[in-house]
Amino acid sequence: MDYEINKVTMDGEFKICPQCGYKDGFHSMFKKEGDETKWLFICPSCHKVFDIGLSA
Ligand SMILES: [Zn+2]
Repeated sequence: MDYEINKVTMDGEFKICPQCGYKDGFHSMFKKEGDETKWLFICPSCHKVFDIGLSA
């Protein structure tokens, strides 16, 4: 599956989609990158994928 990961600098909260303005939060997805698991967010409205810098 091919998708673009959009880096976002979080300013206070991350609830509104910077792409389409959807206001009700995001779906989560996880992606392994080497030893890291990145925690990514998908907008339920426009389906863009966002990275706010969280990983585990
Ligand atoms: Zn959106």
